[in-house]
Amino acid sequence: MDSSNQDPRAPVLEAFASIQGEGRYVGQPQVFLRLAGCPLRCAWCDTPHSWVVKDGGRARVAAPGGVRREDALVDARAARAWIDELDPSRAMPVSVTGGEPALWPDFVAALARELGGRRLHLETAGAHPRALARIADDCDHLSIDLKLPMDLGAPVEVDAAGPDTEPAPRTDAEWRDARRAVLALARGRDAALKVVVAGGRDATDYDELLDDARELCPDAPLVVQPATPIGGVAAPDNELTDAVLAAARGRGLDARLLPQLHRLLGLP
Ligand code: SF4
Repeated sequence: MDSSNQDPRAPVLEAFASIQGEGRYVGQPQVFLRLAGCPLRCAWCDTPHSWVVKDGGRARVAAPGGVRREDALVDARAARAWIDELDPSRAMPVSVTGGEPALWPDFVAALARELGGRRLHLETAGAHPRALARIADDCDHLSIDLKLPMDLGAPVEVDAAGPDTEPAPRTDAEWRDARRAVLALARGRDAALKVVVAGGRDATDYDELLDDARELCPDAPLVVQPATPIGGVAAPDNELTDAVLAAARGRGLDARLLPQLHRLLGLP
């Protein structure tokens, strides 16, 4: 859908302005562009409506004058027009989130060009290192999840992204390779890492993720985020999150505990 022409497009689920609820820039007003399509199936996913790209889908644009629906499949110029409408001051960074925006690397690169000097932040699951390598230099900030394979269901590829789309990891070994490649890419950049901790896990389950972060991307802040209880997933108890935080800090990582602020405040 986005890689074979001069005018790459991506399916937008929603565009809105809000407060960044996670990561390094938590609390910062931002414009969010949520793209549809995600092959992963995180047990604690809070946006399962973003997984599938619907034919003829409509984007929800929460403009200051009122919410409206537009054709979802847009090029970067149309997306930039929505962004400028949401923040005419052009002061707010733009967070491209999902779904998994790495499914649409040509669109992300085109959007970076369209945005000019406005900052572009990318929120990714870190499952698509080849795509990320193509767009990392276009982004001013990378927010990368470190996924625990036991938290994931079998991936379901997004056909609408096109046949050349990098497949999602399936095995623990593929996840390890993807994670290490993405961490190496993030090293030295404005980046943040996030580990979501769900109830019922053991702190040692996260050792491999934290070891890779220490080895490959030691300077990025690492957020330990308690899972928001959704879809039968339990929130972790304080003992578990404290243990994961201590394990990260014990490795010399700049780790901090942070819940999803926008969920606490009831914001989009
Ligand atoms: S990567 Fe994000 S959108 Fe995809 S299943 Fe996981 S939490 Fe949901």
